[in-house]
Amino acid sequence: MIKKPRGTKDLLPNEAKIWVYLENKYREVCRRFNYGEIRTPMFESTSLFHRGVGETTDIVQKEMYSVVTNRGKDEITLKPEGTAPVVRAFIENKLYADTQPSKYFYITDAFRHERPQAGRLRHFHQFGIEAFGSAEPTMDAEVIQLADMFLRELGIENLELHINSIGCKECRSNYNKVLREYLKDYLEDLCETCNDRFEKNPMRILDCKTDADKEAIKNAPRILDHICDECKDHFEAVKEYLGLMGIEYKVDPNIVRGLDYYNRTAFEFISGDIGAQSTVCGGGRYDGLVEDIGGPSTPGVGFGMGIERLVMVLEELNLLPEVDNGIEVYFVAMGENALKKSVELSTKLKKSNIQCEINHMAKSAKAQFKYANKVNARYSIVIGDDEIEKGIVNIKNMETGDQVEKSMDDLVEFFK
Ligand code: ATP
Ligand code: MG
Repeated sequence: MIKKPRGTKDLLPNEAKIWVYLENKYREVCRRFNYGEIRTPMFESTSLFHRGVGETTDIVQKEMYSVVTNRGKDEITLKPEGTAPVVRAFIENKLYADTQPSKYFYITDAFRHERPQAGRLRHFHQFGIEAFGSAEPTMDAEVIQLADMFLRELGIENLELHINSIGCKECRSNYNKVLREYLKDYLEDLCETCNDRFEKNPMRILDCKTDADKEAIKNAPRILDHICDECKDHFEAVKEYLGLMGIEYKVDPNIVRGLDYYNRTAFEFISGDIGAQSTVCGGGRYDGLVEDIGGPSTPGVGFGMGIERLVMVLEELNLLPEVDNGIEVYFVAMGENALKKSVELSTKLKKSNIQCEINHMAKSAKAQFKYANKVNARYSIVIGDDEIEKGIVNIKNMETGDQVEKSMDDLVEFFK
């Protein structure tokens, strides 16, 4: 028996209906905020992610699904996240030449080779947005607001928005010195990865999962105390706009995005309802990224939201919509001629957008009635020789038991 690969999931029809509901809702909220949908390839040149996600990240260091193709000449990678591909498309399609800002949303598959556990898969899915062209704090606030509005309209209340500012390049180079100076005495207490990051990117030590609770990290100097006046003003303005939008937040100095092109606002939405993998949405500003990937200097800000984690939260809170499992019409056919008639009539109904089902299993009349009940048919229509002769059928409402007689020619009208 061949099984699905570890860290993947099958979506069966009932669950897929929930995903379609979420996708429709997400598209609707994005439309309200004037974001246009963008779909990029499922794989990209590996080098895009080296540049666009960063050499020191877990993703690039150990999580990418890459293959070498074309006799060793090309290397491609299944997309591990949504931002770098959208930035590549923004540059390649010269979208920076359009009137700015340019605002995009996506719904994408993503692939990361990590240790599978609840809320952590190897093939997962994300909702996301990217807004290019504006460095104004209204844009940071809008990106946060879109995620907030979407999550709240799904009914989720127990959500915490954590925000931080990680300053600009200059702020960070000063801060990294302060941080190294502080951390150098604690290196023995910290994990191997943290030690690796000490020289290259000490800020990322602050969001280490293994060492998060250690005193060394808890008492570390905070970037917020080391950012320049412009970055401070920007952060104050973002917070003010969030206030105007009625959005509550917690300033959290440990939210960091320790890559050179990330700057200023960093944020996460954390759910109190799903245990360890509790970050449903993460995002921030990345004013250096477009330039780093080879485009003109363009500010940007966005988020990525894990759909599986979102579904977990909704499940836990009983907020998933009721899935309608019934079918509209079932034709009970008594004999071969009746089956032929049900094929004809069901064809007409389906062409008029009415859902129906016929006896595909050569079942007896009794078994067909049983089936109609089992699949929750709202109406059943019995066809036998008598009905064929008269051109009239009995339509039974399966819930109330009410029956009406209709000419076969009037069926479509009845169900419309
Ligand atoms: P985490 O800290 O949980 O590993 P991350 O920082 O790697 O998350 P991002 O790259 O910011 O995550 O991705 C955005 C969102 O995508 C996350 O907040 C999470 O909801 C979701 N996500 C990330 N990795 C996975 C995964 N392996 N399986 C399911 N969802 C994921
Ligand atoms: Mg991760």
